[in-house]
Amino acid sequence: MKQFGYVRAHSTQEAVQNAIAQQDSLYIAGGTNVVDRLKAFLDEPSRLIDVSRLDLNQIESTSDGGVKIGALVTNTAVANHPRIRQDYPLLSRAILSGASQQIRNVATVGGNLLQRTRCPYYYDTAFACNKRQPHSGCSAREGINRMHAILGASEHCIAVHPSDMAVALTALDAVVEVEGSNGVREIPVSQFHRLPGETPQWDSHLEVGELITAVKLPPHPTAKTGVYLKLRDRASFSFALVSVAAMVSVTNNVIQKAYLALGGVAHKPWRLWETEAYLQGKSADAETWQQATEMALQDAQPLSHNHFKVDLSKRAMERALKLSAERGSET
Ligand code: SF4
Repeated sequence: MKQFGYVRAHSTQEAVQNAIAQQDSLYIAGGTNVVDRLKAFLDEPSRLIDVSRLDLNQIESTSDGGVKIGALVTNTAVANHPRIRQDYPLLSRAILSGASQQIRNVATVGGNLLQRTRCPYYYDTAFACNKRQPHSGCSAREGINRMHAILGASEHCIAVHPSDMAVALTALDAVVEVEGSNGVREIPVSQFHRLPGETPQWDSHLEVGELITAVKLPPHPTAKTGVYLKLRDRASFSFALVSVAAMVSVTNNVIQKAYLALGGVAHKPWRLWETEAYLQGKSADAETWQQATEMALQDAQPLSHNHFKVDLSKRAMERALKLSAERGSET
């Protein structure tokens, strides 16, 4: 293993300045994905910047009625927080469906957003991978691609984003707060991650040195109806083949508002804006769910081993929409 330095940051600006001064540094907090990557020689930073002691581990109510979650709050603490469980239950369910209890106890909110794909070819340096080494090729295209993308992929990369939490945050219109050398800025979670395009080595829109400091949840009247449905090969410690975050409010059997995002199908959580617009004003019934899911997957481009994901996504969405509508019905 290549030797690397270590520095512990005592403030967010100190962390940022360290990262800018030595741009092949890597932030580390919980380390649940970073250490895996170091051990597999995927990342060879000159220095680790330990941000785990920064004062970013509170969950607080905001003046607009929402919630601000510090970037260092553990996945377990978010999932079990009374305010999250009561007002944003699908976020709690999404987090609890991911990883294992031991990993959730140390994994942080910021790290969860920044975890990298679990494409097996990315983790095995014997195979070509454009994400690990740009312009080297994509072994998954002609390889085993059962777990890979059906939406938004490119010829350069067909990987999917592995986070469950990010799918729920995308449906909830959450915002990522980041700090860099020019101060603090906010990025909607739906715009935080990139599609692979020609540069699959970049997963997010973070600038050099920028550090995630918090995630903000807006007040969300529909969030209590939220459903997170995850379909996977085994019941725990397994990444999604397909997951759905759905929130639907219904009055007199008419859909007032719907929020939908898919996981396990693209390089980023896949928000379904057009399908949401289609649902508004429609009857909350089986025909509507079926037509909405057809619309949602009309641009799907399955690979040699994952045609099943198209139908699986449709069935999962129908189920999640139905369950959420039942929770969100006023009459
Ligand atoms: Fe690498 Fe992406 Fe291809 Fe996987 S899908 S081998 S991560 S380029």
